[in-house]
Amino acid sequence: MFDGPTLWRTILDELALLLDKPTVATWFSQTKFVSLQNEHLTISAPNHYSQEFIHKRYLKLLQKLITQHLGPDGQLTIKVEPPASGSIKGPLFDHLPTQDLTDSRPKREDFVQPKPVPPADLRPNTHYTLDNFVVGNSNRVAHAAAMSVIENPGTSYNPLFVYGGTGVGKTHLLHAIGNELLQRDASKQVFYFTTEKLLNDFVESIQLKKGMSEFRARYRTCNAILVDDLQFMAKKEALQEEFYHTYNELFTNGKQIVLAADRLPKDIANLTERLISRFMGGLLVDMNQPDFETRLAILKAKSQALGFDLTTEELTLLAETLDQNVREIEGFLLKIKSAATAQDLPVTLGLIKDLLSDKEVTRRSKKLTPELILSAVTETYDTTIADLCGRKRRREVVLPRQVAMFLLRNEVGLNLVEIGEILGGRDHSTVIHGIDKISQRLSNHDRYLGGNLRLIRSQLYD
Ligand code: ADP
Ligand code: MG
Repeated sequence: MFDGPTLWRTILDELALLLDKPTVATWFSQTKFVSLQNEHLTISAPNHYSQEFIHKRYLKLLQKLITQHLGPDGQLTIKVEPPASGSIKGPLFDHLPTQDLTDSRPKREDFVQPKPVPPADLRPNTHYTLDNFVVGNSNRVAHAAAMSVIENPGTSYNPLFVYGGTGVGKTHLLHAIGNELLQRDASKQVFYFTTEKLLNDFVESIQLKKGMSEFRARYRTCNAILVDDLQFMAKKEALQEEFYHTYNELFTNGKQIVLAADRLPKDIANLTERLISRFMGGLLVDMNQPDFETRLAILKAKSQALGFDLTTEELTLLAETLDQNVREIEGFLLKIKSAATAQDLPVTLGLIKDLLSDKEVTRRSKKLTPELILSAVTETYDTTIADLCGRKRRREVVLPRQVAMFLLRNEVGLNLVEIGEILGGRDHSTVIHGIDKISQRLSNHDRYLGGNLRLIRSQLYD
């Protein structure tokens, strides 16, 4: 049988094996053993925020480990006890104002640390850096704007709003900005989060007693925020309201704000005017699918990073064939690597060609044109191209038109303006509306629509 402190030490060692290092450093390095009575272990966390976080995220795991040591009656309590001065260790905590954490302060249960521990869940992912971001025509402006933000955070472009289709590097760029800001000044709080995460935190805080004040303290006390997938704010009024205040607080205090979305602010459904006008007040830059030269450069960089060198011929073939987005390129390189490893063969042009002839890629490489899409749609829906491009607004025409929009975007990768032009000079907001309608129906499992799309795809690819 362990004594209490040893038991907690052992559990910490076990956690270190089960969780990643930053998690353990952030959430557990400041926990302390408090008491062990019968089968009841009590430990302390340095503040409410970590107490709650550990409770929410790791209680199950902890409980399991405790049961292993103490048997089925094993119990755990986590209480709040601010650390004594000088007890904070490790680089993550170096910049915390230790004078505010002296022993002479009363150890109250509701003690809230003046500055939060850099929260693990808001840190930029160090995997995405500026060094491994390939710059080309499709993202040159966005990259330059990012550099300017890094040089003069809060003063050059605020906010910086990047928008573009999927897989063009928006998320990568946001993380890279965050990492570079931290590189230049590690004492800064730089938060990366998606709108979905913000929403989750928001909803959780509403349910907790002191939730809202902690939520606000959390998101308003940082030096820069990088908010991803902002289109997710569409139609979420309470979240927009809350974000508006966070935004203002940060903005007024000269904190840098970087936002990313798949479309312009004005095209996000039901985004309030005041948020739109704030976002429009900064710099808006679009990011596009990489052109041939950029794809070539990306292929070269990514294949080298994976540990193989491709010849110019191989690179050219790949850059010609994989013409969708960077995610597709990455996926295919991994496929090459795993095929070569599995067969214990070097990467050769023959191997690449074999893989390219796999169904998934042939279908992409078949060079789908807008004409092919339109004729497949008209065939399936028994309508005409003239109707698709015309002004009729009857249901029998509107649905196939929206399907055409959806396919032109997702299968051919055209941008909204191009799609609008092909379909009889429609406004790009009409195109967005059409695409959203189809996506919505698909996510509601509209079987009739799903069946028709399968039919069209089989015409296109088989
Ligand atoms: P988005 O957020 O626009 O959908 P991501 O940033 O997630 O796209 O990019 C998809 C993948 O492609 C990521 O793995 C990212 O690292 C990579 N990627 C995108 N653009 C570039 C680029 N210019 N250089 C290097 N990698 C890129
Ligand atoms: Mg993204």
